[in-house]
Amino acid sequence: MKIIIIGGVAGGATAAARLRRLNENDEIIIFEKDEYISFANCGLPYYIGDVISERNNLLVQTIEGMHKRFNLDIRNFSEVVEINPQNKTVNVKKTKTGEEYVESFDKLIISTGANPIKPPIKGSDEADNIFVLRNVPDTDMIKTYVNNNEIKEAVVIGGGFIGIEMAENLHELGVKVTVVEKAAQVLAPLDFEMAQIVHMELNDNGISLILGDGISAFENKGKNIVLESNTKLNTDLTILAIGVVPTNYLAKGKFDLGPRGHIITTENFNIVENGIKNDDIFAIGDVVEVVDFIDNSKTAVPLAWGANRQGRIVADYINGLDIKPSKIQGTAVAKVLDLVIATTGNNENRLKSKGINYTAIHAHRGNHAGYYPGSKNIALKLIFDNETKKILGAQAVGGAGTEKRIDVISTAMKLGATIYDLADLELCYAPPFSSAKDPVNILGYIAENVSDDVYKVVHWNEIDEIASSGAYLLDVRMDYEYDFGHIEGAVNIAVDDLRANLDKLPQDKDTPIYVNCQVGLRAYIAIKILAGNGYTNLYNLSGGYGTYATAKYKVK
Ligand code: FAD
Repeated sequence: MKIIIIGGVAGGATAAARLRRLNENDEIIIFEKDEYISFANCGLPYYIGDVISERNNLLVQTIEGMHKRFNLDIRNFSEVVEINPQNKTVNVKKTKTGEEYVESFDKLIISTGANPIKPPIKGSDEADNIFVLRNVPDTDMIKTYVNNNEIKEAVVIGGGFIGIEMAENLHELGVKVTVVEKAAQVLAPLDFEMAQIVHMELNDNGISLILGDGISAFENKGKNIVLESNTKLNTDLTILAIGVVPTNYLAKGKFDLGPRGHIITTENFNIVENGIKNDDIFAIGDVVEVVDFIDNSKTAVPLAWGANRQGRIVADYINGLDIKPSKIQGTAVAKVLDLVIATTGNNENRLKSKGINYTAIHAHRGNHAGYYPGSKNIALKLIFDNETKKILGAQAVGGAGTEKRIDVISTAMKLGATIYDLADLELCYAPPFSSAKDPVNILGYIAENVSDDVYKVVHWNEIDEIASSGAYLLDVRMDYEYDFGHIEGAVNIAVDDLRANLDKLPQDKDTPIYVNCQVGLRAYIAIKILAGNGYTNLYNLSGGYGTYATAKYKVK
C-alpha cells in the first residue's frame, strides 16, 4: 500500500512511525513544506528564553534519523498544493525550485496543523519587530531579533498558553513585558477566579497586564502600539499570539468543514465530502474538528495529545486494527513562572453556554504535607453534574504536583468516575509528595458533602449581593485574619469560640447563615457545630475568603 502523509510534525510523524511498526512493506511518504520534521513546537518559547540552550534539542528527529529507523520517504521543502480525491493524487511543489509534480496514493493522511492568526492591523506592514510563533523559522527570527537589538520592552498580544509562555520567557531574558488580552482574563480554559491567581503571579514578577483591551494600530515602525482604548504602549518587540486557525487550504471547497474551518471527520478520522465519508483520506491534529468528551458536541483543541493520539488511531485503522473512538477532554498544563496551571474537561463558562446543570466547588490544599519543607498551596476547582454526579471538569493552579492532580482527575473522568469515586481513590502518599488525604480525595469529600446536602455552597461572585441584601455572614477565622481583610458585613466569631457564642447568632434556626473561613475547612467545622445546634440553612463560601479575595484582585 502507498500512504502519503501531509505534514511531518506531531500528528504526521506519529502516524508515519506507527504505520511502519504495523507494516514493514508499505510505501510511506511524508511531505513537509518546511525544513524540519518532528520538532518540538512546545519547546520553542523556552529556547527563546534560553531555558533550552541548544537549538538542536528542539529537533526531536532528523530526516536521516527517522528515515534510517522507519524506512520512510521524507520529502521536506515539499508543499502539497492540491489534493485530487477522485484520481487519488496530490500535486506537490518543491518550495526551493517551484517545480511541481504529481504523486499518487492509496491512503492519504492530512496533518497540516494550524497557523497563528495574523489580522491586518494598521501599521504592521511597516514594522520589522512583530512576530508570531509556530515553528523553528519563527523561533529563529525572534531569537535573531532579540540577539541583534536591544530589547528593553516587549508586548505580547494575547494571553493564551503560547502568549503567556512567551511573556515568561521574554521576562527571563530581563525584558519588561506587558501582556494585552481582549478578554477579562488570561488562559481561557480557567474560570476567572482561577485565572486571577495567574494574574497575581504575573504582576508579582513584574509582568504587566492589560485586560479587556485589544490592539488597534502600530505606529512608528512598530515601536508604538495603540490599543482600542487609545492607550499607547512602547515596544521593542511584539509577539502576536491571539490564537490559531486550522491550516485548511487543501480542504477548502473540497471536504466538509466545521463552522471555524476545521476538517470534519468520522470517528476513524476519515474526511467527509458532501456528507459522504471518503474511505481513503484521513485528517488528524489541529486541523480537525473533534468530539468533546463531556457532551459529544463538536469542538477544536489545538494541543499535542490529540494530534499524537489520532496519528496512532489512524495508522491502526488503516492496518485493520480495532479502534476505539477518541473524545477530547482538553487536558492541558502550563508553567507560569513559579506556578503550574492545569485543566481538564469543561469550565463553568463552557458549561453555562451549553446549558448543562453543574455544581462547582473549590479547595486549597498543600501539594505535600505541611510539616515537610517546601509545601506549596494548590488551588483546585471541581465541577460535577448535578444529576449523575459525574465529573465535568477540574482546574488547578499551584506548586509542584498540580498537574498530577489534574491527570488523576482526567483519568477518572475518562473512566466515567463520579465525585464519590474521587473520595475513594487510593493515591500515593509520603510527606514529600502528598498528604494521607490527597487534594483529589479532598475534592471528593467536599463534593460529597455538597451533594449529600451536608451544606450548600455559595460562590465568590454571589456573596457581595447576598451581603448587601442584609443576610447573616459569619467569618470563623481568627480575629487577626479577619482584620487583615474580610467580606463587608461579616460577623467574626472564630470557629473555636463558636459553641460559647451561639447566643450571638440569629435565634431563628432556619435563618440562612453564610459561613466563611480562609479556604473552607474551618467553615465546614463551624457548619457542623451549627447544624448540631439545630441550624438548618447553612452555606459554605466555596474556597473561602482566599478565593474571594483572589477574585477581587485588581490587575496591574
Ligand atoms: P503540526 O505539528 O503543526 O504540524 C503540521 C505540519 O504540517 C507543519 O510542519 C507544516 O509546515 C506542515 N504543512 C502544513 N501544510 C502543508 C502542506 N500543504 N504541505 C506540506 N506540509 C504542510 N501543545 C501541547 O499539548 N502542549 C504544549 O505545551 C504546547 N506548546 C506549544 C507551543 C508552541 C509555541 C506551539 C506553536 C504549539 C504548542 N502546542 C502545545 C500545540 C502543538 O504543538 C500542536 O497541537 C501540535 O503540533 C499539532 O500537531 P499537527 O500534526 O496537527 O500540526
